[in-house]
Amino acid sequence: MSQFSVIPWNARSWLEVSSQSDFSLQNLPFGIFTSNGRTEPRVGLALGDWVVDTVALFDAGLLAQVPGLNRTHLLAAELNALLSAGSLTWRGLRAQVAELFTAGNSTLLKNSDLHSRLLVKQSEAKMRLPTRVSNYVDFYSSREHASNVGAMFRDPQNPLLPNWLHIPIGYNGRSSSIIPSGVPFKRPMGQLKADTDPAPIFAPTKQLDFELEMAFITGKETALGETISAQKTDDYIFGLALLNDWSARDVQRWEYVPLGPFLAKTFATSLSPWIVTLDALQPFRVNGPEQTVPVLPYLQTAGPQTYDIHLEVLLQSERMSEPLRISRTNFKYMYWSMAQQLAHLASNGTNVDVGDVYGSGTISGPTPDSYGSMLELCWKGTKPIALPDGSQRKFIEDGDTVIMKGWAEKDGVRIGFGEVRTQVLPAG
Ligand code: CA
Repeated sequence: MSQFSVIPWNARSWLEVSSQSDFSLQNLPFGIFTSNGRTEPRVGLALGDWVVDTVALFDAGLLAQVPGLNRTHLLAAELNALLSAGSLTWRGLRAQVAELFTAGNSTLLKNSDLHSRLLVKQSEAKMRLPTRVSNYVDFYSSREHASNVGAMFRDPQNPLLPNWLHIPIGYNGRSSSIIPSGVPFKRPMGQLKADTDPAPIFAPTKQLDFELEMAFITGKETALGETISAQKTDDYIFGLALLNDWSARDVQRWEYVPLGPFLAKTFATSLSPWIVTLDALQPFRVNGPEQTVPVLPYLQTAGPQTYDIHLEVLLQSERMSEPLRISRTNFKYMYWSMAQQLAHLASNGTNVDVGDVYGSGTISGPTPDSYGSMLELCWKGTKPIALPDGSQRKFIEDGDTVIMKGWAEKDGVRIGFGEVRTQVLPAG
């Protein structure tokens, strides 16, 4: 783990950062933003209620120590150029920002004129997608989720298909419809056919669902033909974000045989704007569930491979004044680790690009209040959720907003992801 760069756990900033803020000095996640005074997109790091403008830091001569850093890495509409410059560069940038904002460092503290040039209120920043995404893959790595779906649609006594305990199952998604938090989408149309219908119809989905997921974003590429050892995946994973894999269950059920999900998934996928580095998450590294069937050598790993990250889903209808929490779970429940997912994905020699998004698969915990989709929470519509506005939900209705949050916390230090928030608009 020596390559990780963890900011000292007892360090605090001279900038006021609430202990409840997701964006502590130890976090410093990366994103791309614009604001009124900054119309050209640029790299920002979140700290407390603020975004640190890295272009302004560069122009003030405060990033001269960062190896290989170029202004074009920072004045950029995506993080790809910065990541491609290499981990020495982006780690150096994050370490330098941490040092400049640590209590006791007087470089910035005594220059209040500089503060207004370097800092933008998060409430005044417009966040964009953090990377240019060449490839989006979605896995299916929660044993609880796969078992729930298998029990509902196949055999409750034997819910997992025979390959599930041997392969981190996944499919290639569609990167063009990944949208940042805050961008709404229209309820999709699709082919629907109930078992009792003689033929399909083309209509708006009646079973729009979310899937609570996390995604890892790659920061290093491979060439075609190259593979990634399961022991070396940390070198390729830049960080994590929250992901909502929107799904149309009725479309999915009719189309998925025999090639898997297609249009039921490709109309929208929502991503949170801040990428929390794998470095920041190291203090939260934990063991995942025991793998009950031995895995093939190329999937074998050593030591803890997952992270203790609290997750929750909230739902707000247009008539509700505040959102209702409908699920609470944890990333550590995932059966297959990111290391195994990435090693498996690259095992046939396909190439990995910088900025790729790899979804974990729906994260469901062991109890019914920890499931990561409406399909499971409402158990195929048999257990509707009552909302405070008097209505009920089996799936997501027009006007509803779904919010996902995630954070890790230890010894008063919080490493959070912010949120991914999406409103569903009517079809048409
Ligand atoms: Ca999914």
